[in-house]
This record gives sequence, structure tokens and C-alpha cells, in this order.
Amino acid sequence: MKLSLLEKLCCPQDKNELELKIFKQVEDEIIEGIFTCPDCKRYYPIVYGIPIMTPDEYRQKELETPLLNRWGLQLQEKEERFILLNK
Ligand SMILES: [Zn+2]
Repeated sequence: MKLSLLEKLCCPQDKNELELKIFKQVEDEIIEGIFTCPDCKRYYPIVYGIPIMTPDEYRQKELETPLLNRWGLQLQEKEERFILLNK
């Protein structure tokens, strides 16, 4: 996704502004990264340049764990929401 599109994205749950951490970027295109919502703490990954803004009920923790591990992050398993473990 292009850096210039960032401002238009907000948390689908509560419409708050998202914080972005970029892991892989090619010119002005973000290939891999992670958005986190400062309010509800949910995270939304960017994979192959596409932000995954799916609501919780359509997400699967088993599918996201390998990706998070590759980025050195961990899911908070006890939470129903998709929240990262604070280190
Ligand atoms: Zn939120």
C-alpha cells in the first residue's frame, strides 16, 4: 500500500487513528507492516502490500501466528480481540 493512503485508514472497530510500524518498504510502497489502534489495542497486519482490516470474527489466530512470529511479535492468546503481547 502507498504511504500516501495511510491517512485515510482508521480502526474499523472504533474509527480511531492507527499507529504504523513498517517492516518492509520499497520506495513509497509498504510491503509489510503492522497497524495498531491506540484505543482498543487491536492490530492489523499489512501483508504483500495489503492491509488486513478484517473484523475479529473473520480472523484466525492460527493463521496469523506464523506471520507475527516472523516479525518477532506475539499474539495475546487469552484475549478474544486480536492484540499483541507487550514485551
Ligand atoms: Zn480500535
